[in-house]
Amino acid sequence: MENQTSQNAKPKNLFDELYKDYRFREGFHTCINCGTCTAICPAAEFYCYDPRKIVTTVETKDDEKIEELLKSDTIWYCGECMSCVTRCPRKNGPGLVVMALRELSIRLGYFVESEKGRQLLPLMHALAGSTLKYGYCIHPKMFKWENHKESGPVFKWHLEHLEQSLARLGANYMGDGPGILRKIPQESLDEVKAIFDVTGATERMKLIEEYSAKKAREMGLTDEEYEQRAFEYCSDKHFNR
Ligand code: SF4
Ligand code: SF4
Repeated sequence: MENQTSQNAKPKNLFDELYKDYRFREGFHTCINCGTCTAICPAAEFYCYDPRKIVTTVETKDDEKIEELLKSDTIWYCGECMSCVTRCPRKNGPGLVVMALRELSIRLGYFVESEKGRQLLPLMHALAGSTLKYGYCIHPKMFKWENHKESGPVFKWHLEHLEQSLARLGANYMGDGPGILRKIPQESLDEVKAIFDVTGATERMKLIEEYSAKKAREMGLTDEEYEQRAFEYCSDKHFNR
């Protein structure tokens, strides 16, 4: 972790650092503050979220304000649907700017300072964990009913009788050959892992683990308690009422 910390020390200038990211250069041009991106944004309908403000904040090139953004819940509300890219009259892409901000927030370990940022850990374990282990981004074996009681007792029954239940739907659950939910061959799983390695996803996951463990210690929690809290806790400050 010591190497990691020195490797990821805060850069001299956060704006310049963002500018190194091609997604940022693609999505960041002069903003006329028209608010069209916010009007079209589906996330803005549910969350206290305004992509226009993200672009205007970054545009200030003020390090303090950008750091605040990197440590905030704001950058984790975006669903990366890119609707904003299609509508901006200045060809900005607030969604692309958000992608660059997220990347930097992870690299510097700032994501652990926000409630939504801390949710990265359980989300990563569920989605990336499932992809690497089974070759599906969501696999029934990774699904714990206790964490999703809202799915109800019928779904609980299905989880407890997966093979029987999926067979009735015509799936080839964990079987060889073709079919829904078939077993993905190890050779293909190795290829997925190689893709994670060369694209930087493996390194990013390592950072999320390490910074989260450090934050857990800071909060006086075990790794398990930290992850469960990040998964379960959701304050009501995020939503439009
Ligand atoms: S990419 Fe993000 S900011 Fe843009 S419209 Fe979609 S949710 Fe909103
Ligand atoms: S639509 Fe484009 S120009 Fe208008 S506020 Fe959003 S980013 Fe700025």
